[in-house]
Amino acid sequence: MAEPGKVDMDKIASLVKRRGFLFQSSEIYGGLASCWDYGPLGVELKNNIKREWWRTNVQQRDDIVGLDASILMHPSVWTASGHVSGFADPMVDCKLCQKRWRADHLNDGRCPDCGGEVTEPRMFNLMLKTFLGPLEDDAHQVYMRPETAQGIFVNFSNILTVSRKKLPFGIAQIGKAFRNEITPGNLTFRTREFEMMEIEYFTVPGGAEELHQEWLDDRLNWYVDLGIDKEHVRLRRHGDDELAHYAQSCYDVEYLFPMGWMELEGIANRGDFDLRRHGEESGKEVSYYDELSGQHIIPYVIEPSAGVDRSALAFLTDAYTEELDEKGDLRVVLRFHPRLAPIKVAVLPLSKKETLAPLAKEIYTSVRQHFMTQYDDTQSIGRRYRRQDEIGTPFGVVVDFQSLEDNQVTIRDRDSMKQIRVPVAELVGTLQRKLDGEPLDVLPPGGSYWLGFDES
Ligand code: ATP
Repeated sequence: MAEPGKVDMDKIASLVKRRGFLFQSSEIYGGLASCWDYGPLGVELKNNIKREWWRTNVQQRDDIVGLDASILMHPSVWTASGHVSGFADPMVDCKLCQKRWRADHLNDGRCPDCGGEVTEPRMFNLMLKTFLGPLEDDAHQVYMRPETAQGIFVNFSNILTVSRKKLPFGIAQIGKAFRNEITPGNLTFRTREFEMMEIEYFTVPGGAEELHQEWLDDRLNWYVDLGIDKEHVRLRRHGDDELAHYAQSCYDVEYLFPMGWMELEGIANRGDFDLRRHGEESGKEVSYYDELSGQHIIPYVIEPSAGVDRSALAFLTDAYTEELDEKGDLRVVLRFHPRLAPIKVAVLPLSKKETLAPLAKEIYTSVRQHFMTQYDDTQSIGRRYRRQDEIGTPFGVVVDFQSLEDNQVTIRDRDSMKQIRVPVAELVGTLQRKLDGEPLDVLPPGGSYWLGFDES
């Protein structure tokens, strides 16, 4: 039996592959190390995470606006930001097996694979390079952005002008980032191409510390509100020796992954480092006119920086449960929060008999206008329930022979396996309310409790 917080990564790996959440990139050519493709369910999960993040941080706040900046940026951006000189890990090579390791990932100073002696550490820049235009020379070299944040900083003045926001205010962005990681692994935990959800929240310097604290609570609660067990997330303050070159102080939101407590999101107080550096490097004024003091100031910034892929892995891991059903058979359930579940509703005719198909298809057509819905009429109803449990579908709608008489269907709840019976006319509204968190036993007009179909 899987213990909470101690789910085996192999089980997650097998489920995500089997059910089409994740495939290895370029698999038919033997795969490309640490690059992943999200399958039909994975892309839904990822989109739902991004949508929730945007809803909480942009749609529901009037002090944050969105941005979608280009991945390729002027090379000076990365000189100003410190990435060209500082975005590097100390690396060592094993003299025996030639594998390359991050110096802080060694076992007693020796190669973790073969125990061989290693070279002196050398700095290795993590930025991926490419070329713009037909010439592959230094003048045409650009970087694939290693974070989305710099797109926000260089647009600070543009956004200030068009949005006319007053401090404190923020800019939010979701997008791909690239890092030539030396130690990728653990499925999508650390990859070379990944997606970030970043906010730069600007404030007068004196307000930064208080806002930093507020963001720590906000961000931790976001994961818990979306279903992560609060015992499985925590905040960890960076020690002075860990702080990045730009950070005044930094906390990580950590999640209890199968391999231990690991970073899910970084929340840093970056001071005025970035805006000041872009002002210096570009020669353009990057500042804010503070009406209170009558002066131009360079705002401080708080940066909650989260990974979409790492969040998806955490939500998957936390949702994974195994239990024994009444007959002693294993039931695997992804207990996703309904907002994150890739498929919200499964329409399941009780039997494959042709008489049921027209009504079941009609219901499917109407329900899928509102929610991601699957139609499944193969195998026994019990098997179909299990298939939906395993991908985390919150509700099954069963159309049976009695439905043809009374125009009612049953709704089966993933977590409790309880069922209610509702008129077809009430179905979409009832599903919407249940997905929004209404308890199953609150019945719509004409609804009733239902003993349910045998799960076998
Ligand atoms: P780590 O050292 O754990 O790889 P980091 O400290 O370099 O991460 P940050 O620069 O703080 O990470 O990036 C912010 C967030 O972006 C991380 O918390 C993580 O969710 C995500 N992230 C960063 N690097 C990767 C990566 N290589 N693969 C997947 N997600 C990443």
